[in-house]
Amino acid sequence: MWDREREELVERLVKWGYLTKPDIIAAFRKVPRHEFIPSSEKRYAYYDQPLPIGSGQTISAPSMIAIMMETLDLSPGMRVLEIGAGSGYNAALIAEVVGKSGAVVTVERIKELAEFAEKNLRKTGYGWVKVVVGDGSAGYEEGAPWDRILVTACAPELPRPLIKQLKIGGKLGAPVGKDYMFQTWTIAEKTETGEISITEHGGCSFVPLIGRCGWKTED
Ligand code: SAM
Repeated sequence: MWDREREELVERLVKWGYLTKPDIIAAFRKVPRHEFIPSSEKRYAYYDQPLPIGSGQTISAPSMIAIMMETLDLSPGMRVLEIGAGSGYNAALIAEVVGKSGAVVTVERIKELAEFAEKNLRKTGYGWVKVVVGDGSAGYEEGAPWDRILVTACAPELPRPLIKQLKIGGKLGAPVGKDYMFQTWTIAEKTETGEISITEHGGCSFVPLIGRCGWKTED
């Protein structure tokens, strides 16, 4: 049942133009989204909508995740940092694309969710993804520099430590907005000269990035 529902979702995302790159399509086909969803919401696992995952947080809609993955230009062997592990689903998709020759670290500020993500990643075969509990708005210096950084919570502006931790030629994707309502999916690329080139890819809606280089509180 899940296999057919997953395939139908992938076909819709391709038809609507959200998924175009073969390796990202293959990752969406392979990673079992229902294994990352709490049992009360599982029946909606292959609907194109965000779902609650506990602690007041959500797993993003598949079409939004497709936009994030496609605009980041991921490829095998890359070292990728995700901020906001949540359920672990997005980290599993990234892991599927970059493979074990790359590296995936995902940082989550809420301990219970980090544990949830770790459990989900382990049971689906992505136990090699490293889950870290902490404030990801300051990045993860230990594994820097990164080829790609994916922020899955909305920041008031691009967090400086994340830009600093990018490789030359590296890309950072993040929802950015001056308040929680008006957010833009933003890609920042670090050019050969170390400057930052910004492109914007339309509106989006994410929970806030809470931390030293994000929003200071949830209010
Ligand atoms: N990527 C997740 C997935 O695949 O399920 C969904 C992430 S959810 C939209 C955003 C997550 O960012 C939440 O789990 C939230 O707790 C986390 N978050 C917010 N601020 C954070 C911070 N400063 N550091 C790390 N995680 C943070």
